[in-house]
Amino acid sequence: MSDHITRALAPGVRIVAAITTELVEEGRVRHSCSPVASAALGRTMTAALLLSETIKADECITLRISGNGPLGDIVADTPLRHCVRGYVHHPEIDLPPAANGKLDVGAGVGEGMIHVARFSPKREVFTGTVKLISGEIAEDVTRYLLESEQIPSTVGLGVSVNPNGGIAGAAGFLVQAMPDVTEEILVNIERNLNLVLSPSHLAQEGMTAAGIIKLLTAGVECLEVFDSEPVKFKCTCSRDRATGILCSMEQDDIRSMIEEGKAEVRCNFCNESYLYQVSELNEFMNEQKLSFVRNEKKLE
Ligand SMILES: [Zn+2]
Repeated sequence: MSDHITRALAPGVRIVAAITTELVEEGRVRHSCSPVASAALGRTMTAALLLSETIKADECITLRISGNGPLGDIVADTPLRHCVRGYVHHPEIDLPPAANGKLDVGAGVGEGMIHVARFSPKREVFTGTVKLISGEIAEDVTRYLLESEQIPSTVGLGVSVNPNGGIAGAAGFLVQAMPDVTEEILVNIERNLNLVLSPSHLAQEGMTAAGIIKLLTAGVECLEVFDSEPVKFKCTCSRDRATGILCSMEQDDIRSMIEEGKAEVRCNFCNESYLYQVSELNEFMNEQKLSFVRNEKKLE
């Protein structure tokens, strides 16, 4: 089943669920992630998508997990609506499984902070930073929402990896209690949460996001489920942007790339690489010289 996200409202409760198996697989392949790095990146990208459903449609979110573990920083952002991209600093790091047999994301992340930044089209509008609890990411996002945004929430995130390293299933959900929620609904959802299997297992079984929402809200009346929207891994980098970066570099740096015989600009988020030949680099140098002369003329 293709990746998608679904929102729902019940009295005093907001619920979002997402199936993200394909986009996590794309992230894994692009960055050549080990199983534990795939799980860490997949959980972070899924969390960013869930959080992006709680903000205005033209805003975007950046989620950064900054731990002292061997994976290094894990970053995911939503540059466009229903799109996510991300990277993990050391995708090659793998670790033995945790005592419960699961991928040991917590050990890979270590101790540190979770940072969330929300941007409107023109500026950064909100930034929150909270200490990591376990580095398992779902618990850390839950704590962030409570401490930084004062919204009692439950976040579930899961990525399961096949023996060959491919992603078998990835999914997540977010349940948020609004101030007008009743005790009865909270108790009901709490009971459902204890019964629900891990999100990655549900994804593997072919469950839809709406199906996960139904499991979480069993017994809750007046549930309004909105249409599902497709979600995907998508980066906003381009050759034009890469060229802009090269053109803004110091002349000495461009000159040393010319001596090396080529230049490469690689995007952190999607690992796409843009290659430049000496002839193009010479052109950039000449353009820079021209604009320098133009500026000098202006000064006169
Ligand atoms: Zn990119």
